[in-house]
Amino acid sequence: MWDSNLTVQGICVLGSTGTIGVNTLDVIRRHPERYNVIALTANQADEKLFQQCIEFDPQYAVLVNNDAAQRLKEKLDVAGVNTEVLSGVESLDRVASLENVDQVMAAIVGAAGLLPTLAAARAGKRILLANKEALVMSGDILMKEVERYKAELLPVDSEHNAIFQCMPRHFEKGLEKVGVNKILLTASGGPFRTRSIDTLCDVTPEEAVAHPNWVMGQKISVDSATMMNKGLEVIEACWLFNAQPSMIQVVLHSQSIIHSMVSYTDGSLLAQMGNPDMRTPIAHAMAWPERIPSGVEPLDIFEVAKLEFEKPDFKRFPCLAMAYDVLNEGGTATTILNAANEIAVDAFLNRQLSFTNIPRIIEKTLETITKVEADNLQTILQADSEARQVSLDWVKQLEFRQ
Ligand code: NAD
Ligand code: MG
Repeated sequence: MWDSNLTVQGICVLGSTGTIGVNTLDVIRRHPERYNVIALTANQADEKLFQQCIEFDPQYAVLVNNDAAQRLKEKLDVAGVNTEVLSGVESLDRVASLENVDQVMAAIVGAAGLLPTLAAARAGKRILLANKEALVMSGDILMKEVERYKAELLPVDSEHNAIFQCMPRHFEKGLEKVGVNKILLTASGGPFRTRSIDTLCDVTPEEAVAHPNWVMGQKISVDSATMMNKGLEVIEACWLFNAQPSMIQVVLHSQSIIHSMVSYTDGSLLAQMGNPDMRTPIAHAMAWPERIPSGVEPLDIFEVAKLEFEKPDFKRFPCLAMAYDVLNEGGTATTILNAANEIAVDAFLNRQLSFTNIPRIIEKTLETITKVEADNLQTILQADSEARQVSLDWVKQLEFRQ
């Protein structure tokens, strides 16, 4: 349990230059007496990481890209900052498992976040999990490692954090045992909830990343537009809350005020509400079971006045249906879905693929590859790399076709 006579918590922020990383540092900035930044990491954004090093003075800064790391080193030398600069993917694992790190914010986007998150689990850290792809790729292994090494896994994804807040104690024993009969996972429906289906093939990357309620990185913004984000979140929720897929009901709630709900056998329905700002779930996970100010304004319910809900349209959003299918299929199917989605989204953002071809790439990739049991990391990483190759081949075939 958390010691309220607290010692300062050492934090490693994986993906500190991204949207979640920047929001995490904003929460940390408000509580210098509670949190000490030990390590910051990014892929190649040396200038942004340099600015963060000046402000937070971490012991380590990691840039995966070697040239960017060299540039950062030179800038820090000139500025007289003592941060040690590391490079290469292995350095992510190293800083996620340092002795003086208590909490690891897992906010790298995509499959690249899996290995450092596993390293944090094996080092017994409190993991603040934003990187949902780690659970989608490798849920069984990550959950087992968390248990085995007595790590803690706290959800930062706003819906999962909301569900966690509405869950009873000891839900990990089984949801039926604690009286939970359904999880209502809310979704904004993204920017194309009401756009005519016939025009979806013309969607541009600029339109897809313009989310109505949240400011997010490019990949998750496109995932929200296809609703693959919600599909990934259904899979994430099954692992985090030990739930069957049939217990998870997606609810369209375009206002993003309720962040998810938990339904109980006695008729109670608990919801967590708040302004759509990721600093709330970040601060919640960092301080749990305490509460700390996050910088988010309280919700004005008189201004909201009315809440709206709809059922999701699986025809408009085939990615959501595919996520339920792969969950039921099990094994490496979710790993393949995740990898194919990453390739398809990347191709769409590079204008090589139309928006409506994103689900087609994923479907074709899932059809092409034989799924196997996902019982060890080697198998997972192999399935991930095979799926990337196969979906790249499909991108070449479907390029520019509607
Ligand atoms: P982002 O694109 O803004 O930032 C990604 C971060 O990861 C950057 O710091 C980048 O340097 C780093 N990175 C990218 N590729 C990397 C690689 N190959 N190796 C190492 N580092 C790499 O993304 P984001 O919106 O902050 O999302 C981060 C994660 O959090 C995603 O998994 C996303 O699904 C999840 N998430 C985000 C939000 C949100 O509101 N942005 C909400 C819920 C969950
Ligand atoms: Mg979410």
